[in-house]
Amino acid sequence: MIGAVDIGGTKIAAGVVDEDGRVLSRMESPTEVDRSYEQGLELLVSMLRRTLQEAGQKLDGIGIGSTGPVNPVTGEFGDVDFLPRWRGKNPVRDLAGIFNVRVALENDADAGALGEAGWGAGKNRSRLVYVTIGTGIGGGIILNGQLYRGVDGAHPEIGHHVIDPTGPPCSCGFRGCWEALATGPAMAAWYEREAADSNSQGSLSAKRICQLARQGDPLAGRAVARGAYYLGLGLANLINLFTPDAIVLGGSVMKSADLFLDGARKVISQGCRFVPFEKTELVLASLGEDANLIGAARVWHHRFGQQEVACA
Ligand SMILES: [Zn+2]
Repeated sequence: MIGAVDIGGTKIAAGVVDEDGRVLSRMESPTEVDRSYEQGLELLVSMLRRTLQEAGQKLDGIGIGSTGPVNPVTGEFGDVDFLPRWRGKNPVRDLAGIFNVRVALENDADAGALGEAGWGAGKNRSRLVYVTIGTGIGGGIILNGQLYRGVDGAHPEIGHHVIDPTGPPCSCGFRGCWEALATGPAMAAWYEREAADSNSQGSLSAKRICQLARQGDPLAGRAVARGAYYLGLGLANLINLFTPDAIVLGGSVMKSADLFLDGARKVISQGCRFVPFEKTELVLASLGEDANLIGAARVWHHRFGQQEVACA
């Protein structure tokens, strides 16, 4: 039984996940920017204890997925903007001391990739790229069954590869990153600008735009087609770079995947002719609402489970 912790910008969740990736119990609490690390640690400990009690289980280890930057090697938190007082703190070491088990930490998108690779849509695929498309674009890369990490344990930021240098400004400093063009907010911003020109209803959510596109609204249809085009360009880049077995797609925008995938596939087929692009499957993430918790548990298995097999 693995205690799973998911630390995100809006909520912190904890739960107990069994060896088949099933969530036996869970609870969550809002992420509070002002919370000190000591209060945060206390919260994590009490949430883990309560979910363990609820599941009636003993803990074998703890896996953590957190929005970055976090250092998966040392367990230390970096400049995580929604938890400024956690900087330099080490929940891996502290939780290991309190619960007397081994603890592993990864960036939450990497945790998501490991979850889908181990127990979800990416099962039995050794080369896969996991992409979440929602308010931002994040992802994780698994090569030959192992999570790919960069220098110093760094997490690659696939949402910040530039698709159009004349595109909208991005939070990272570039213009026209994948994240600035293919996310829900990017689609909503484009729609609002175009609607202002045509004097039609402006400020809509990406979800609403997708609904309107289904009903045949022409401007919403164009917004979706544009989203599919940019989604396709980013996926084509990933296919050209990694030629993976599969790309697993998750995130809120992919709840309307049927609106985007045909257009994206068309873009891929136009520009990936030097690689066997048709062999890279585009599959939807399958772990559902608890994907982050399940991924956090998988972080532990990925780090320590293989050692157990080797020792046995
Ligand atoms: Zn960017």
